[in-house]
Amino acid sequence: MIYLDNNATTPLAPEVRNAMLPHLGDAFGNPSSPHSAGMAAKQAVSEARASVASLIGARAAEITFTASATEANHLAILGALRAVEETQPQRTHVVTTAVEHPATLMLFDDLERQGWTVTRLPVDAAGRIALSDLRVAVDETTALVSIMAANNETGVLLPAAEAADVAQARGALVHVDAVQLAGRLPTDVDALNADLLSLSAHKLHGPKGAGALYVRKGTPLHPLIHGHQERRRRGGTENVPAIAGFGVAARLARAAVEGGAAASMSILRDRLERGILAAWPGSRVNGAGAERVPNTTSIRFADGHGHPIEAEALLMRLDRAGIQVSMGAACASGGNEPSHVLLAMGLSRAEAAATLRFSLSRYTTAADIDTVLTELPPLFARLAA
Ligand code: PLP
Repeated sequence: MIYLDNNATTPLAPEVRNAMLPHLGDAFGNPSSPHSAGMAAKQAVSEARASVASLIGARAAEITFTASATEANHLAILGALRAVEETQPQRTHVVTTAVEHPATLMLFDDLERQGWTVTRLPVDAAGRIALSDLRVAVDETTALVSIMAANNETGVLLPAAEAADVAQARGALVHVDAVQLAGRLPTDVDALNADLLSLSAHKLHGPKGAGALYVRKGTPLHPLIHGHQERRRRGGTENVPAIAGFGVAARLARAAVEGGAAASMSILRDRLERGILAAWPGSRVNGAGAERVPNTTSIRFADGHGHPIEAEALLMRLDRAGIQVSMGAACASGGNEPSHVLLAMGLSRAEAAATLRFSLSRYTTAADIDTVLTELPPLFARLAA
């Protein structure tokens, strides 16, 4: 099996699995218990906290564990807005981009229904926002700007650090969804200038069921779930096995990024892209021309006449050949709606439906890419015929 859908989720690193196993067995204590079983669990959580903090250049006390990045995004956005509402009720405006993950976009739709004024920044054909649009949008009534650092469908990098400067100059808070950046490129909360930043363990070879929110010291934040855990920021007994796995995954991710994993991934990604574009010159890379994370390519396929090809049929055939890719975001696949990200970039519905996303990991090999390049043409020929 060749798995090229790492933006949907990643396989557990073997070291992560080994670190989790004791916590699914004898090391089952509750981190809040005072006895030795509890203390051991508490120790595991605090080691993981230090490791996740170190992945993003933060202090351990600034990390709050959640059950997912979706939850981290909610805690960041809703928690910060509740706090701002109390002290600065004149700030009734929130800003995001048209290409965020549904975890953010659907929440912003809900904020709008609750009476917040919402700006969704448009993107250009390469998936980039214009900072000039942001400068016009943000004013003294803006409470928060939420922006992703890297798009999950195209891999396009968004200017999160520059957006933070614009927002903070007008007294607004900044939340960065760094789910697709961490583990792929260096991710540093100070370089990004983020007040709040979300991470997900399962996108960097950790387990599902663990996310984290970085909260810069001094950032106002109300809990959404009350309880004494996580410095009262997120109640609920900690998911110790998943958090322990997240800690190891973060340590490995940091070592991989420092060891040049980005360069190796981009060499393979570029080889895949070049191979596909050479075989089907009518095809195009979505987001070409923009800076992108090194592991992702989103390609819209066209036949010899430049007509979009139904990517869903291609995806099914690839799957039967043991190659797993996706049409866009995992959550969008299976539905009939075309990707909101690709439509925002100006693609037609047919072009969006002709798109496949290939997302590599540090475990992807040159042989994997060569197999894909060998398997694709016959499948493609049958479809285009
Ligand atoms: N943000 C981005 C950019 C993502 O790609 C994802 C996952 O697809 C999420 C948030 C949600 O992460 P989780 O699966 O941990 O809820």
